[in-house]
Formats: sequence, C-alpha cells, structure tokens
Amino acid sequence: MRRGNIVLPVVLFLSLTLIAAYVFYSNRTREYSSDRFLMDTLISIKVYGSDSEALKEAVASAYSEMHRIASLTDAFPKIGTPEYRESDACRINQQAGVAPVVVDKDTFKILKMAKHYSELSEGAFDVTVGPLMDLWGFGGKNPHIPSPESIKSALSLVNSRDLILNEQERTAFLAKRGMKLDLGAIAKGYATEKAIQSLKASGISKALIDAGGNIRVLGRNLHGTQWRIGIKDPRKQNAVVAILQLEDSSAVTSGDYYRFFEVDGKRYHHIIDPRSGYPAGENMTVTTLTADAALADVLSTLFFVLPPEKAVQMAENLDGVDLFLITDKRRIMHTQSLKGKIDVPSETSYRYDQRR
Ligand code: ADP
Ligand code: MG
Repeated sequence: MRRGNIVLPVVLFLSLTLIAAYVFYSNRTREYSSDRFLMDTLISIKVYGSDSEALKEAVASAYSEMHRIASLTDAFPKIGTPEYRESDACRINQQAGVAPVVVDKDTFKILKMAKHYSELSEGAFDVTVGPLMDLWGFGGKNPHIPSPESIKSALSLVNSRDLILNEQERTAFLAKRGMKLDLGAIAKGYATEKAIQSLKASGISKALIDAGGNIRVLGRNLHGTQWRIGIKDPRKQNAVVAILQLEDSSAVTSGDYYRFFEVDGKRYHHIIDPRSGYPAGENMTVTTLTADAALADVLSTLFFVLPPEKAVQMAENLDGVDLFLITDKRRIMHTQSLKGKIDVPSETSYRYDQRR
C-alpha cells in the first residue's frame, strides 16, 4: 500500500474522534454549586446543566431573588439604617397602632399566607409572635425564661386577627401599638421557593437548594433518580434518623434542637405556642413534605406546635402534604402515604409502630 492511502483515513479518524470528544465534553452535565450566608443560615444552591456560564448566571439571579426577600422580611435591622428602610417588616412594626404601610407584592403574599394558616390552625401558627420572641430572647445572645407577668402582657399583643391586610391598597397594618411581626417561620421557605422559580425561569431543570436544612429540589438528580434526603436525628449530632425520596418538591424541618437553652434539665426552644407564650410542647422534630417550599416552611412550624396526633391528622387532610415527626416520647409518626417511601434503619433508637 502506498503511504498516501493511509494518511487520509487516519486524519479523518482523528478529526472525527476530536469532534466526538468535543461534542461529548461540551454536552456533559456539569455541577455548579455556590454557598452564601443569608437569613441567619448557610444557604447552598447546586445546579446541573451543560453550560457553565449559564449555570453561574442562573445561580446569581436566584441568590439576588433570595436576598431581596430576606431584605423585605428581616425584622431585626436597627432603626435609621438603610436595611431598616428596605424592610417591609420593620416599617410595619414601626407603624403598629399608627397607620397601614404599603408593601411589596411578595411581602403581601407572605402575610396573606401567614394569616390564612393562623386561622386554619386556630392560632398555633402566628407571625405576630414578635413580642414573645423578644421576651425569650432567642434572636439574641442571652435567651432566658421570662417572668409570667411579662409573658401575659406580651400575649395580649399576639394575634394575627389584628394583622389587617388590604388587597386593593396592598397595605399591612398591625392594629395595636407594640405588636411585632417575626417572619422567621416563613421567610426562608418563601425565599427558597422564589429562588427555585428563578432557576426554572433561567432554564435550569435540575437543582437542589439547602437553606439550613430546608430542602427544595427541582427535577430529579444527576442519575435520573429521586434525591435522597436525610432527616437529622434530633438527639444525636451528625446522625440521620430517616431517609426520604424527593422529586420536584421540598422537605422542611422544624426542630427543638437548633436554638434552645436548658434550665434544670428542661429544654426551652425557639418555637413558641402563641396561645400559651411558652415553647411548644410535644415534638422533637417535624418534617413537612410538599411541593412549595414556602408552604412546607409554614406547615413545619405549624405542625410542630400542634399535638402530634392532631398534626398528622391535619396533614392527612391537606392535599399534597406529607408529614414525618418524632414526639418527645421518642415515637416516630408519619402520614400514611409515606409508608414505603421513607427509610428508617431497623436499629433505630426511636419507637416506630407504623413500620409494621
Ligand atoms: P427555623 O429556625 O429552621 O427557621 P422554623 O421555620 O420552625 O425554624 O421557624 C422558627 C421561627 O419562627 C422562630 O425563630 C420565630 O422567629 C418564629 N416562630 C416561633 N414560633 C412561631 C409560631 N408559633 N408561629 C409562627 N412563627 C413562629
Ligand atoms: Mg417554618
């Protein structure tokens, strides 16, 4: 064979291989992840797709959306600061008992949702818990048990019925002087959902947001299967009590182990029953599963405050909502439809009757 005859096929073969490698490489699914400290917690966003630049831009817009919601809802900036003026929560609190305040569309949605679930739970969930939260001091460095008298007087300022919303004017008004919004039970979930919708609008179809243990996933994972999410053991650090599968949905946990202090062996934590003024009683950890992360956030706090049986019963009656919880008697309970979808190791130290 003459030499010229072999050169052409070899060159052709090499160039085809190069083209194939390039196509393969450029279409390969990449992960881009980025962490930020926002809303008092570490937020992590992971996205998947083929175009690195596009992934980066999508995450940046998602974060700016989260940041915007955080600024609107944060009730803690000092008066006189730019952060204070940017915050609808601060302005509403400042005008309590004085005048209604025009708020951002998203703030209005948050407040409307909060009010609705206050009514539905007969006050177990209530974003006007601000005066109680201040008394207990969970936001600050020195949480402590308040005097019964101070709890009693704070209780007179806690009631979502006195949060007056006007849809036409898009205003919010706290009817009594001294009332105070604390959106800690809903803002993070709402911001997470906004971020997911922003990623979707940027063309992302696979993503995971972990906002301090509040999980929201978009689509399926990289392997095309459901995401496996661990539920933290409320009494053992870095241990998981159960694993659940998630797809296009969220799982939000409220627990008595994030923010708490102990006096005489009794645990006092940051989820308050707005009707008694004291930390809510009978659960260690509550995880709500539902598509919308804002709803999951609201419901996890709400279910935490309810007695466990009542919480499971209420979850059964809500469409598209599942619930997993562990009671203070170390008993695992969950909605019926989680059976078979939730994985609790057989050597668990908790009581799990529903396994059977
Ligand atoms: P996380 O600390 O993970 O955000 P939650 O979503 O359960 O947990 O929210 C707890 C926060 O919600 C508290 O720090 C407080 O700001 C607020 N909060 C406490 N009790 C209630 C309640 N009964 N209803 C509404 N909000 C509450
Ligand atoms: Mg919550």
